[in-house]
Amino acid sequence: MEPVRAVIGLEVHARLRTRTKLFCRCVAGPGGAPNSRTCPVCLGLPGALPAANREAVRLAVRLAEALGAEIHPVSTWARKNYFYPDLPKGYQISQFDRPLATGGRVRIEPPGAAPRWIGIERIHLEEDAGKSLHEGFGDDHSGIDLNRCGVPLVEIVGAPGLASPDEAFLYLERLRSILRATGVSDAEMEDGDLRCDVNVSVHGDGEPWGARVELKNLNSFRGVRRALQHEIARQAAARRAGSATVPETRLWDDARGETRPLRAKEEAHDYRYFPEPDLPALALDDALIAAARAGMPELPHARRDRFAAALGLPEADAHRLTVEPTVADYFEQVAQAAGDPRAAANWVLTELLGLLRERGLPIGESPVAAADLAELIQLAGSGAISGKTAKDLLARVAAGEGRPAAIVEADGLSRLDDAAAIESACRAVLDAHPGEAAGYRGGKAGLLAFFVGQVMRRTGGRADPGRVHDTLRRLLG
Ligand SMILES: [Zn+2]
Repeated sequence: MEPVRAVIGLEVHARLRTRTKLFCRCVAGPGGAPNSRTCPVCLGLPGALPAANREAVRLAVRLAEALGAEIHPVSTWARKNYFYPDLPKGYQISQFDRPLATGGRVRIEPPGAAPRWIGIERIHLEEDAGKSLHEGFGDDHSGIDLNRCGVPLVEIVGAPGLASPDEAFLYLERLRSILRATGVSDAEMEDGDLRCDVNVSVHGDGEPWGARVELKNLNSFRGVRRALQHEIARQAAARRAGSATVPETRLWDDARGETRPLRAKEEAHDYRYFPEPDLPALALDDALIAAARAGMPELPHARRDRFAAALGLPEADAHRLTVEPTVADYFEQVAQAAGDPRAAANWVLTELLGLLRERGLPIGESPVAAADLAELIQLAGSGAISGKTAKDLLARVAAGEGRPAAIVEADGLSRLDDAAAIESACRAVLDAHPGEAAGYRGGKAGLLAFFVGQVMRRTGGRADPGRVHDTLRRLLG
């Protein structure tokens, strides 16, 4: 079968982490009784005048800076006209022909391949619309909540440079890390802080690109990947069958795992953009740009490289540790205090994140402080406690029983190093199970594991299993 190539571009909207809305002083975050966070400006009442929120501009400039985009000292606001029940003004204030920034790039690292830079076309500010509520109002009514009207968004329009659903996933994951690391957005997809529209087309080698289809209603990163897999397969099948794919907007149905047509694809001219008459051009002063650049953190891809090169972590571990900036921060504290980055990476990625997942906690609410995990890693690394004891200890620290060294001290959990004590435990187990001992001597070699288990139980997991093993074989041999 002739290979089909996919071309994917993502348009991401992120809610800026401001206290108030983009053009008025209403509270911007999620929550609040429906329609309680509104005023004449965000409701678009006649005569109300918008004024741009400096903090929102600062955050958008900060993101543009982090993405290496060209920041334009002067950009303009535009009205994007369309009718929707949750858009009382009948237009959205956005940026069109003169956006805040153009260019920029995001690095992705597909496993087993060289890192790739994915281009950004433009970054601009716009206000959000309200929300239609279709549940809880009976079959023939819907509700409208306008709290979200005027909430500040930054839109990041990516170049069509992604070649697969997996690359789209990596791009989104990295963009989210950057938004969080820079403090620009909470970027919580479940809360609607981060929304993503996808454009996708397919074509054969050396052919022009096929018709572009936009996918809507993508509510999770996994949803984006699944929707793309499905849509690429659908377009490829249409192409093989000789039927043309039409440019359109399709809705992803996550429950049914399919896309279906929503409407013909709208073009820019459908929105009748025109310059916003109520707002002056957005001119960035030096103080604002300096504030946007201040305290710029190490970016996630650079941190990933540093974890691999300077700390000697495997690339896959370095990647997993830098997906969430808060996880990377925690790991760095543990690695530094424990003095062993590899052990710290293993403990954080497997034991600690596993424990947090079980309890549904973010790392910011970890019941094990970084200093405690470091202490535990040192106890295990120095041989003072066995690996089994170390894992039990993590659960006890998480349960609030105290600091690791103090628990070891109080409960006498230090590893059993005394050869005589190990031998006496082994002898006691063999004496208690004469039948099994005879069975082993008669050729049932598998029984050795049973004896090792019994000795470990008898010593509270404090003996070294290797030494127990050797001692038992000597005694039985
Ligand atoms: Zn308002």
